[in-house]
Amino acid sequence: MTLETADTMTTPPSTTAATPDVSGMSCHGGKDELKKAASSAGKSEILAQYAADYPVGPHDQPQSMCPAFGSLRVGLRMRRTATILSGSACCVYGLTFTSHFYGARRTVGYVPFNSETLVTGKLFEDIRDAVFKLADPDLYDTIVITNLCVPTASGVPLQLLPKEINGVRIIGIDVPGFGVPTHAEAKDVLAGAMLKYAANEIRQGPVAAPRTAKSNLPTVTLLGEMFPADPVVIGRLLEPMGLAAGPVVPTREWRELFSAFDCAAVAAIHPFYTASIREFENAGRKVVGSAPVGYDGTADWLAAIGDACGVSADKIANAQNMILPAIKGALAAKPIKGRLTVSGYEGSELLVARLLIESGAEVHYVGSACPRTKWSDADREWLEARGVEVKFRASLEQDLAAMEFYKPDLAVGTTPVVQKAKQMAIPALYFTNLISARPLMGPAGAGSLAQVINAAIANKDRFDAMKDFFEGVGTGHATGIWEETPKDRPEFRAKYQGMLAARAKAEESTAT
Ligand code: SF4
Repeated sequence: MTLETADTMTTPPSTTAATPDVSGMSCHGGKDELKKAASSAGKSEILAQYAADYPVGPHDQPQSMCPAFGSLRVGLRMRRTATILSGSACCVYGLTFTSHFYGARRTVGYVPFNSETLVTGKLFEDIRDAVFKLADPDLYDTIVITNLCVPTASGVPLQLLPKEINGVRIIGIDVPGFGVPTHAEAKDVLAGAMLKYAANEIRQGPVAAPRTAKSNLPTVTLLGEMFPADPVVIGRLLEPMGLAAGPVVPTREWRELFSAFDCAAVAAIHPFYTASIREFENAGRKVVGSAPVGYDGTADWLAAIGDACGVSADKIANAQNMILPAIKGALAAKPIKGRLTVSGYEGSELLVARLLIESGAEVHYVGSACPRTKWSDADREWLEARGVEVKFRASLEQDLAAMEFYKPDLAVGTTPVVQKAKQMAIPALYFTNLISARPLMGPAGAGSLAQVINAAIANKDRFDAMKDFFEGVGTGHATGIWEETPKDRPEFRAKYQGMLAARAKAEESTAT
């Protein structure tokens, strides 16, 4: 296998110019200060890269979980990979709790710090010691060490760690909440760093073959985590064109990264993997957006993939003819009737909306916490042509406003959207647990959503009955059953808000 352009590993920048004490700050406050501190502590280059890869706006950042959970999960799912976090204890507690809640069954390493070790640079030495102690080639291919917010803001220079110890690869990444907007994009931070490392290994000479025999057919690498059956279905769709499904990135073991480059094209099933796509493009691989969802989506995707892989028009048409009638049949057999809004932070929201519409649902609004990229253009255009309002980097307020405005029969959304929907007696489903955990591709995807969606819509009467039952128990400050209903005091809130605004103004004028 050859990669077309030579590239070098990241050259380490100079050591931390200054190490401000930011140990007391977190995502709940001081975000701008953390950003400023990180820039002045030698992290401006990586922050500029993140700003380009993961643009924010129109507003600051979607409300979502700690972004580092995304990269943590990617590392924890890989064989022979050790994971170390460097960050505030409360952040590490939350992240390890969540990863074990999702069944990580792996140890998460932690290098603790205090103000002194942070400011004096001793934390980096402690991390270095930990990495050397852990680098056992019998146990690990790779050690991933992640700087969370505070160590990133303090400029802890993970770039200066050795690239390899005893044959164990060392990957250091910064995943601060003030630089990486969502956990979805944090997956790309680690996947991109691993692809970059693997590409460099390929350029230097022969690399390990995959553990399971690779198809003799040219392969299509699949970018984005998906339901386990989906890559199998995609493989069947590709077969008539003389192609096979390649590895899914993020991969489950290191050597799959080599196979990922050894492909005829890359399918960006999830469109937000900007850093990973950069690595594939640097290696001369073609990238195709969207996915084989529903009738139109599958027809267009097969054509685009076939085209990228140099497949003849006849063969592409043959592949389409072999599968499209089955998809049409599956969609017609399991129709969805109802008006929906969809919001989520997985990056597959547009694909799900396409499938819902092809199943017969009316989808009014799709909000994604992920940014707009050129790889989601085809899906966005298809949805907008059908009158769907599509919002990238959607805030919780926008998702809620859409639900209140459209009053759907069913809201598919994130936890707070689902909570609000239930308060309004609107049936609702969690995007992550109930929609992402289903096949979406090809004939298996067509119709897979109908059962859960139709069952949820049919629950409307139960929601109305519950609303009636709880009617009169109060809301907001008066929630509950009282002998004497608490009295709201909006004037107190107004007073404190005024005082806070005045203080902020005073601080601003002193600073300038
Ligand atoms: S690491 Fe995550 S939880 Fe901790 S301060 Fe940053 S964004 Fe918040």
